[in-house]
Amino acid sequence: MLIRMKRDASARETNDVDARIRERGADARRVDDALVVIHGKLRADDVARMPGVESVEELSTPYRLVARAVRPRGTVVTIGDVEVGAGALVVAAGPCSVESRGQILETAHAVAAAGATLLRGGAFKPRTSPYAFQGLGEEGLELLAEAGIEAGLPVVTEVMSPEDVPLVARWADVMQVGARNVQNFALLKALGATRRPVLLKRGMSTTVEELLLAAEYVVAHGNSQVILCERGIRTFETSTRNTLDLGAVAALAGLTHLPVIVDPSHGTGRRDLVGKMAKASVAVGADGLIVEVHPDPASARSDGAQSLDLPQFAALMGELHAHASLAGRTLGPRGGMRGAGGVEDLRKRIDGVDARIVQLLHERAALALDVGRLKRAAGVPVRVPAREAEVIARARQLAHGALPPDAVERVFEAIVSGTRTAEERDVA
Ligand code: PEP
Ligand code: MN
Repeated sequence: MLIRMKRDASARETNDVDARIRERGADARRVDDALVVIHGKLRADDVARMPGVESVEELSTPYRLVARAVRPRGTVVTIGDVEVGAGALVVAAGPCSVESRGQILETAHAVAAAGATLLRGGAFKPRTSPYAFQGLGEEGLELLAEAGIEAGLPVVTEVMSPEDVPLVARWADVMQVGARNVQNFALLKALGATRRPVLLKRGMSTTVEELLLAAEYVVAHGNSQVILCERGIRTFETSTRNTLDLGAVAALAGLTHLPVIVDPSHGTGRRDLVGKMAKASVAVGADGLIVEVHPDPASARSDGAQSLDLPQFAALMGELHAHASLAGRTLGPRGGMRGAGGVEDLRKRIDGVDARIVQLLHERAALALDVGRLKRAAGVPVRVPAREAEVIARARQLAHGALPPDAVERVFEAIVSGTRTAEERDVA
């Protein structure tokens, strides 16, 4: 059941309705100006005439919080300065697997220059064979994050198990749930407990309803920032790796308020079909694409046959502009080359980067406070000057690009000193 409150309903009126729902043994969540009953039975009469109630509607679907009716205007998922579901087409591009520093940096710069909005790259790879390349793991995450910062693109990467969520969240702007994990409910719950956007891929034998219930897990556990991804399903057809179900993309728009993107790479398994299916995806209303791109697909350690090379990706981006505009969309907030939108556009992006920096600082401080608490519990000294010096030296070593090492060192001195202040307050 969906109980929409009047626009001018007071907090007290909303609380009273919530209390009535609980009295009846049911449970509801607030979404914008509505209460969505997620457990238990309620009759419309129980609440319909209460002050502040605008309307009461039955929800006939097993998923509730992600149902379209709950948020008819749609959800916008925010990743730094990138908005998914706000009208502009987002394009995540990059290799199936992060393989080396050179490979990911080259790809990052090329896809950014071509107008991509996100950088993709797998560090933990779900491979069918245990003998196939499993990804670089943590090293891959670090390389991906570094390349993303260098190229000015937020990064998306797969997390395969609930235990890995804190590690991957340290490096990723978007946490990808792969097709093979769409019903890994422990993973979905763990991601629900984070505030990091989630890219949830449809499984190869998942119905649309099962996909939406998987998304419901994440949202019901507290994280409303979910992007769905159609990546092809398994059918009797063998001419393509999977059957890209664009009908589902069109259907999803009516069923859910969550943004939907399409992966034409896994959806076809064939480089020659990726561009065509990317355009078709835009035509059926996808909010974005995720495309595999590799500087040398022939040497790729995974999914080379479906990867575009760098010029092929740039060419596709050029062609997509016309398709995006036919579908009533622009192609990414960056509109192509960096700086093409002028000073104002660049300033907006700087504001977005600043917001991410502040978020990272909070994350860093929370981890440092946890370290301090563990040390106090163990009765060992909290402050270790040698460790602080090491942190600053490592940051200095990582310096490259426009910022000189001295400047990086000063920034890290300030971070370390800020952490000390936070720790002193934590004890006080
Ligand atoms: C991938 O994105 O590289 C991947 C493994 O995708 P999927 O989970 O859709 O197979
Ligand atoms: Mn892949």
